[in-house]
Amino acid sequence: MPAVLAVPATTILLPGDPAWDAARQAWSLSVDQQPAAVTLPTSPQDVVDVVRFARWHGLRVAAQGTGHNAAPLGPLADTILVKTERMRRVSIDPVARIARVEAGVVWLEVVEAAARHGLAALAGSSPDVGVVGYTIGGGMSWLGRAYGLSANNVEAIEVVTADGRLVRADACTETDLFWALRGGGSFGVVTAIELRLFPVTEVYAGLLATPHHNLAGRDYGQFARMAAEITAALADLRPATAPEEIDRVLSTALRASRSVYLSIPADTANMPVLAEDAPPLLQNLAHAPAAARG
Ligand SMILES: Cc1cc2nc3c(=O)[nH]c(=O)nc-3n(C[C@H](O)[C@H](O)[C@H](O)COP(=O)(O)OP(=O)(O)OC[C@H]3O[C@@H](n4cnc5c(N)ncnc54)[C@H](O)[C@@H]3O)c2cc1C
Repeated sequence: MPAVLAVPATTILLPGDPAWDAARQAWSLSVDQQPAAVTLPTSPQDVVDVVRFARWHGLRVAAQGTGHNAAPLGPLADTILVKTERMRRVSIDPVARIARVEAGVVWLEVVEAAARHGLAALAGSSPDVGVVGYTIGGGMSWLGRAYGLSANNVEAIEVVTADGRLVRADACTETDLFWALRGGGSFGVVTAIELRLFPVTEVYAGLLATPHHNLAGRDYGQFARMAAEITAALADLRPATAPEEIDRVLSTALRASRSVYLSIPADTANMPVLAEDAPPLLQNLAHAPAAARG
């Protein structure tokens, strides 16, 4: 290591900079991030430079895509916050069915790029969640029941390790690192990730809502197990509105389930939530482009 490291060429913002407040802001407005510095790399080499610089000066490094999940980063007083939002390249290999995305890419960008080739990505419920943060944390997609977690559909990860090396980890190279990066915690700054895509262009999907009392004693697990390809999420909603108002409109509470199917269920009438004695108040299940769920 040289005696003195040059200041990285990439943008580094410090407290007092006119752009400081915008730079340190996370998507989650409840978190008041006060790092030592914020950097906005545009290339893997920028990340290498920043990690080496931080290491030399005894500073920590924390990566952030969108800041959707900013709270767990904790206090950042001795930390350079590496915000990857300027690393936005997406490329699709339609033959291999692989998407290569840089660290700052959000799901909408992958979903739209993949759809142009008749392919679907394992995106979650929010189009502006970061692909890297979502995937290295597991990543449960609307297609997850059929294809598994996003973390289990990664071909390769490019990452700058704590000692400032840019490495590519996959099933054959840096295998322990590849395993650890997929759900195991913070092992470096990911600069790009390669994900499998799936030949799904259409889903049968939508929202069901029914009064809570209609579902008393019903087995939601039975509904979820009806077909292996169904991905469903249950929301037990208890609105804060005055109870008399809710009674007038729906009920004192709603139980809603959102579900995605890869094909039309053979006999939807058999679904517990669609049974005749518990008709839904709202149902908008319909065929839709897979990209509409991304
Ligand atoms: C509205 C909403 C809907 C959601 N829907 C789903 C869903 O359907 N399925 C699901 O599984 N999850 C869902 N989530 C959870 C989401 O996947 C996590 O909050 C995820 O961590 C967000 O990733 P991010 O990159 O956007 O956030 P960030 O806060 O930027 O990052 C999250 C974590 O990943 C780390 N990280 C980010 N980028 C890098 C990088 N380049 N290198 C190393 N580490 C990095 C960060 O340090 C942090 O620990 C949802 C969240 C929200 C807010």
